[in-house]
Amino acid sequence: MQILYAHNILFCMTFSSGSTYQQVRQALQSNSPTSLPGREEHLSRIHAFLHDHLIAGSSGTLYISGPPGTGKTACLSKIMELPEFKSGYKIVNVNCTSMKSSGSIYARIAQELALKVSKQTEKICLASIERYLASNHKMILLVLDEIDQLDSRKQSVLYTVFEWPSAPNSKLVLIGIANALDLTDRILPRLQARLDLRPELLHFAPYTKLEIVSILTERLKQSGVSAMFPSVALELLSGKIASTCGDVRRALDIGRRVIELAEVRNQTVPLQPTVDHASNTSSPRKSPRKNPDAGCVALKEVMAVLNSVYGTSQSFVTDSDESFPLQQKVLVSTLLLILKKGHNKDVTVGKLHEVYCRICKKKNILSVDQAEFISLCQLVETRGILKVQGRKETRLSRVCLQWDEEEVCAALKDKQLLASILNDTSCL
Ligand code: ATP
Ligand code: MG
Repeated sequence: MQILYAHNILFCMTFSSGSTYQQVRQALQSNSPTSLPGREEHLSRIHAFLHDHLIAGSSGTLYISGPPGTGKTACLSKIMELPEFKSGYKIVNVNCTSMKSSGSIYARIAQELALKVSKQTEKICLASIERYLASNHKMILLVLDEIDQLDSRKQSVLYTVFEWPSAPNSKLVLIGIANALDLTDRILPRLQARLDLRPELLHFAPYTKLEIVSILTERLKQSGVSAMFPSVALELLSGKIASTCGDVRRALDIGRRVIELAEVRNQTVPLQPTVDHASNTSSPRKSPRKNPDAGCVALKEVMAVLNSVYGTSQSFVTDSDESFPLQQKVLVSTLLLILKKGHNKDVTVGKLHEVYCRICKKKNILSVDQAEFISLCQLVETRGILKVQGRKETRLSRVCLQWDEEEVCAALKDKQLLASILNDTSCL
């Protein structure tokens, strides 16, 4: 464990160069990942379905449903690459969002099957496809992604397509993919009435937190850049996505934005001091240590992106039982006091620390030195409540409040302390 940790730190110190960030971005971007964690069962169901029909030379229909970013297209792409199916089937794969109208699907399928048509009209193309299906031909795998786009008046196109597999001698395996769970029941009730037309169903549920963590972990591992994204950061990101939509596309997008923030931070001079929690001394640190894993993603960067996507991070605080440590409460209350009652609204870390020390003295609370205070600011920053801007000269860095007073008050859960600090302008 220790060796792994040491390795990670060494990695971040040594390799967090531009190209490493680029590698992480690519790992989180690839549309054809080598593996699809969490979808093993789905892959094997689709595989079995295609395999069985191929061996039997029989037709069939599979309808795949599931919300966005749950791996439907990715699973199909992976399966279609398998040599067994590439050689066994004539594969026609169409994303229906690219169709101008629902009827233009016939021209596209005719073209994919290399059928000669006298004219590109709907009627002629359809007749040509149906003639081909009745003739002696190789097994066809027709994948229609986003099939709900073929929705039209009276559903004539959808009915026609779903009826093909039951036509005599059609040797057609149809896979329709869309978001709606009940497209085949709702839009196509006639299919349910006929046993031979009823499609098999396969649903892709939103990803869970654990699944998102393993998808991201696996992608980073494959690219050899796991150390750049500590597991706590991955868990925070994955937990939020799982609790909102379970859409891994979104998790990947957010992951890339987080990496951008880490890269920007790494290019500027990092905020130097780190608190030595082991010692209780409050003497100023003379030669600040550089944070060893400065190049890796920091929790506060995940927070910052999640906040910008999902609004304030208030829920992160109030959802948990974790309450604010006293020092952080005083810091936030001090900031609010300066902003509300002070003359100068441009609050620097230095100014904030001065007022904070006066407040602590008055309230008989042990204050922390400036180096530790900067760390304290960073801790509060990870909660999304404030932002520290301009990192070159830490004393002069500006501290900006990100929440309004009501939100802060609710999160601190200590109205008394806040009120007593806000009512005492003598510390300003
Ligand atoms: P939509 O309904 O919007 O079309 P979808 O279910 O088809 O969504 P995909 O396009 O398959 O979603 O997946 C979205 C992105 O997430 C893709 O980049 C894909 O590679 C990636 N992805 C999805 N599932 C996994 C997984 N299990 N492992 C790794 N990457 C995945
Ligand atoms: Mg898709």
